[in-house]
Parts: sequence; structure tokens; C-alpha cells
Amino acid sequence: MGVDKNALYFLPLGGAGEIGMNLNAYRYGDKWLLVDMGITFNDRLGIEVLMPNPQYLIEQKEKICGLFLTHGHEDHIGAIPYLWNRFKCPMYATPFTAELIRHKMNDQQIDIEGYLHEVPLEGKIDIGPFKIYLVTLTHSVPEPNGALIEAGNTKVFHTGDWKIDPNPLIGKPVEEEALRKIGDAGVDAMVCDSTNVFCEGDSGSEEEVESNLSDLIGSYKKNAVFVTCFASNLARLQTIALAAKKHGRHVAILGRGFSRINEIARKLGYLKNVPPFLTLSNVKKYARNKVLYLCSGSQGEHRAALSRIASESHPDVSMSPGMLLFFSSRIIPGNEKSIISLQNKITKLGVKVVYGKGMIFTYQGTQVEMIL
Ligand SMILES: [Zn+2]
Repeated sequence: MGVDKNALYFLPLGGAGEIGMNLNAYRYGDKWLLVDMGITFNDRLGIEVLMPNPQYLIEQKEKICGLFLTHGHEDHIGAIPYLWNRFKCPMYATPFTAELIRHKMNDQQIDIEGYLHEVPLEGKIDIGPFKIYLVTLTHSVPEPNGALIEAGNTKVFHTGDWKIDPNPLIGKPVEEEALRKIGDAGVDAMVCDSTNVFCEGDSGSEEEVESNLSDLIGSYKKNAVFVTCFASNLARLQTIALAAKKHGRHVAILGRGFSRINEIARKLGYLKNVPPFLTLSNVKKYARNKVLYLCSGSQGEHRAALSRIASESHPDVSMSPGMLLFFSSRIIPGNEKSIISLQNKITKLGVKVVYGKGMIFTYQGTQVEMIL
């Protein structure tokens, strides 16, 4: 079958029908637009990162006009250090995402000078025959962009990850007016990425999480509290930090991902109401019941801080009976075994492990509660 020159084609190479490793391509005429370039993790296979096979697009690389990144999560930008060199196409991202990409590429000593173009929020970009109009949505990281993509007579609304949070703690609420306009004018298709899209009801606001988390931390006065979440979830990081502050606890961050997002977020004016985080060297000044350790490794990743603490191989931090660990993240399907094995280890140290809603595990008299 030949290619219809006036049709807009959509080619999802990763991320459609699965969680992680988003790589989408649109073709119009003989030109291509790429949207997102992400990775996924799968500890079960013993493979550190997984990403889509870009071979077909590499064969088309002369025809690729650009790569647009919807937002800064690993499953949307994480493959850039591995794959971008094979395309060397222009990249387009809003400031927060662009800064994350700069850091990543700098770490790998990949020169992107002149290739990364910063686009304002709600901006318009022309990438070859594709016109892109950005719409700010809400998600767990700043600057989640939906993109109305126009080529020829066809319009597709490509969302990236999103939810409608009426009270986001980070960034602006969803641009409802812009969404209405797009809807009223009509689109030919919507390519929508929202993990809980099949769950009825609303997805809840970060504000509710803050009050639940604050109650939990406030109810625990005796000893150190550990919390783990995704480092890229800046909204949650802020929520946890504010809940800790309310109860007089200082937050120490453990894990490179947290340090990086903290640095970038503060540079771009986020986390303004959050006191500076403690480092491992100054956390020792405080009594344990005045500290909250925010650790990477909520998915049971072997090399992350939490796994190392659980295996008693972390050089600076250890857990002991009477402490509390709260998992403030969902389980990514496929990671159940690693997470449960991690929780077992921590429970055996006599630490109370608290997870989501309504479930309690016990191990030798120690409880693992699911409350949120
Ligand atoms: Zn995301």
C-alpha cells in the first residue's frame, strides 16, 4: 500500500498500550515528527533500562524534522541520552523539561549545542509541516504539555500524561478554556496518555494527599520517618516536605534523582515554600524524631538508596525498630515482586511499613499498613 501524501500517519513505537518507554512518530508527506523518547525499567529481566527499537526511524532520519518532548518524566525523556545521537534532530521542550534534558546530556558528555530549543508554555512551534500548539495540563511534574498537532487538514490532540487536578500544588491548573476551544473546533483524533483512564470518578488532588500524609507524619512522634516516592514527582516531593515542616521535621534527601530534581526545580523557581533539604553530613545534628528521610527506590530498584538501607549496606543511614517507612507511590505493574521483597526486608528490621489504602500485612508482630 502506498503512502497517502495528504494523510497524517501515527506510528507508536513504544508507550501505547503499555506503561513506559514512550516514542511516538507522526508522518505527513515524507516528513516525520517524533513525540517523546522514554525508557522503562524491568528488574525482573535483570535489565537496567528498556527502550523502544528505533531502527525504522533511524532509516528515515533525514526526513525527521524534530523531536517534541511533552514533559520531563523518564518514560518520556529517559531514552534521549541513548538514542538521540542516532537522529541528531532538533529537540523542542518547555523550560523545566529542557533543563532536565540538558543535565542528562551533560552527564553523558553529549553535546546538544544548537539542537535543544526552549519553547514557552502555551507556545506555538512549527516543525517542518507540523504546527504544534501547546496546552498546559496537570500532572506530577511541572509543565506537562498537551499538543494540538496540525498537518495538512488533519488535527490530532496528543496529551502526554495528564489528569485534571483542580488544585495542583505545582504549576498552573489545566487550561480549561484552551481545551474547550480545541474541542469546539473539533479534532480528528486524540492520542491520550493517562494511566488510570479506565477508572471511573476523579483522580483526586495533590491537596488531599497532603492532608493524609500530614496526619500520618503527625501521628508518629517517636523516631525517624522514611518516605519513598518517585524522584520525578516534584509535586509529591513538595507535599512530603511541607507535611514534614508542619510537624517540625527536617527533610534529608537520599538518592541522585532527588538531588537533581531539587537543584533544577529551585533554579526555575519551584519549591519556594520548602526549606532547603539536609545533606547526609548535616542531618546528624538533629534528633531522629526531627528528621524525615526521603529516599529513592520506591519500585524496589536494587541500587537505589532504599534497597541499600534495607540490606544494611548504606554507608550513612540505617533503620532500626520503631521507625516508620511510608511508600508514597503506586506500584508500576511488573515491579510487584521487587517491591514486596524490599518491604519484607524492611519489615524484618522492625520498621513499620505503611502503604496505600485498607490493607495490613504482618510479619512477626510488625505491621505493614495500607492507609492512603
Ligand atoms: Zn509523566
